[in-house]
Amino acid sequence: MFDAVFVGGGVIGLSCAWRAAERGLDVCVLERDAAGSGASRVAAGILAPDSEAEPGHDPFVPLAQRSLDLYPEFAAALGADVGFWPCGMLSVALDTDEAEVLRREPGFTSWLTASECRRLEPGLSPLVAGGWLSEQEASVDPRRLVAALADRVDVREGSEVVAVTRDSVTLANGESIVAGRVVVTAGAWSGFAGVPVRPVKGQVVRLRGERPAERMVRSEHVYVVPRRNGEVVLGATVEERGFDTTVTAGAVHELLREGYRMLPELAELELVDVTAGLRPGSPDNGPLLGEWEDGVLVATGHYRNGILLAPVTAETIAALLVGDAPHDVALPFAPERFARV
Ligand SMILES: Cc1cc2nc3c(=O)[nH]c(=O)nc-3n(C[C@H](O)[C@H](O)[C@H](O)COP(=O)(O)OP(=O)(O)OC[C@H]3O[C@@H](n4cnc5c(N)ncnc54)[C@H](O)[C@@H]3O)c2cc1C
Repeated sequence: MFDAVFVGGGVIGLSCAWRAAERGLDVCVLERDAAGSGASRVAAGILAPDSEAEPGHDPFVPLAQRSLDLYPEFAAALGADVGFWPCGMLSVALDTDEAEVLRREPGFTSWLTASECRRLEPGLSPLVAGGWLSEQEASVDPRRLVAALADRVDVREGSEVVAVTRDSVTLANGESIVAGRVVVTAGAWSGFAGVPVRPVKGQVVRLRGERPAERMVRSEHVYVVPRRNGEVVLGATVEERGFDTTVTAGAVHELLREGYRMLPELAELELVDVTAGLRPGSPDNGPLLGEWEDGVLVATGHYRNGILLAPVTAETIAALLVGDAPHDVALPFAPERFARV
């Protein structure tokens, strides 16, 4: 019998299982398709507690900051190159209205003039009116991260779970697996266990070639994530369309147009692919970390920040599984703030 089984092998299920195994537990991840085939495969991999902070969304900042602080050790302990790069994020305004919006962002530090922005990133368009820099923000390659995590844990692919209790799961083929605890980590599909998450579609474009910038750059409409290996990710739409992962011409047009307006050299890069994924969004867009009804544990609802929040989520769930108190930063994200759906 396993000490814990995790339902869903995205970045969250895999990270939690890995950290739980490191604390001595015998664990298994049950994944309906292939590990990392959900949102984690599509994500850009921005680790941005400052730029992602929402006005009034206070508890997110300490949670996200702790996770970013954990990242260097988390990435190094995996023993594989996951593309972790503390390159910083430059947020730019393309007109005076956008400049006003940027200055009101919760993470805002100090204003950089247009020429200061261009000194940092000579590829920026002449439209850029100014911006601000978060030097601590970083990126990781989510596909390499998921592959490294999947190498570290027992993942049973092709295992769809149709029902859960505190200590057992039922698979679509009728098989039952009994475990000390069950943890739902099924991302946007966690609703099957009564967890209130909805799918929020996002489309990204992947390009390849000479790096158009030395750090991540974003405007109000688009972000560009350069990687050391020549991949450049351009994202992302935010669409409420249920479980639809169609790639649309309109989204590709909008992302390329806005990316080009910010960094014109993007036009010279090779177009590699366009993908759509489903972010797990909770009613307040904050994650659910902890015990759900009937003693089932949940770790989902990470919305736009599941890659960033993987280390702190794994730390929290591993602590709960071994009977330790989670870190204070995770307490506001107890699932009991919501009712079952
Ligand atoms: C376009 C886009 C860009 C993004 N960019 C970023 C970013 O830059 N930085 C960031 O931090 N986050 C980003 N995100 C968000 C991030 O991708 C998600 O928050 C994160 O991947 C959620 O991970 P997860 O493991 O919960 O879900 P998923 O990765 O979706 O994994 C869930 C897994 O559960 C499996 N599953 C579902 N139901 C069952 C079942 N019944 N039985 C067994 N298995 C099941 C699925 O097959 C899937 O593999 C982005 C998301 C999108 C869509």
